[in-house]
Amino acid sequence: MALLPILHYPDARLRQAAKPVGKITPEILELVENMAETMYDAPGCGLAANQVGVALRIFVIDTAAEDEPSDLRVFINPEILELDGVQTWEEGCLSFPGVTEEIKRAEHVKVRALDRAGVPFELEADGLLAVAIQHETDHLNGVLMIDKLSALKKRMMGRKLAKAKQEDARD
Ligand code: ZN
Repeated sequence: MALLPILHYPDARLRQAAKPVGKITPEILELVENMAETMYDAPGCGLAANQVGVALRIFVIDTAAEDEPSDLRVFINPEILELDGVQTWEEGCLSFPGVTEEIKRAEHVKVRALDRAGVPFELEADGLLAVAIQHETDHLNGVLMIDKLSALKKRMMGRKLAKAKQEDARD
C-alpha cells in the first residue's frame, strides 16, 4: 500500500469530470486500498479518485467518529437516485487544506454504486454520511465546495486559503 499525493485547489485536474470504471481489475483494487490509506493518513472522512489525479468514478468514505470502529465504504460508479430535505454542515475538503465552510445540501440521499467486488448496492443515508456522499459525487463531476459558496464567501475562502498556505510554508 502507498500514500498518494492529494491535489490541492486550484489544480486543474480537480475540474476534470471522472469516467466510469469499466472493469474492477487488481489495479483498481490497489487504487482503492491506497485511497483509503491516504484518506486515513490525512486524516479525512472522504476522498475521490480525481483528488489523487485519477479521473475515475471512485470514492471512499468513512464517517465513523474517533471513538467508533472504522467504517470504510467504497463507491465505484456511484449514482445519486434521490435527494431530499435540507441540512447545513461545516465541511472541509482534503483539496482545501486548513479551511472549513458551512454548506447547504440535501438532508437525505439515496445512492447506487458498485462495491469492491463489483456487486451493485443501494444505500440511503442522512446526516454526515449524506453530506459526504454528495461532496464526493461532486468531486467526480469536477465540482468543488467553493462552487457552493456565495461570491462574498468565495473571496473570504480565497483569503483563508492564502493564509493557510503561508502558515504551512512557515512550518
Ligand atoms: Zn473534497
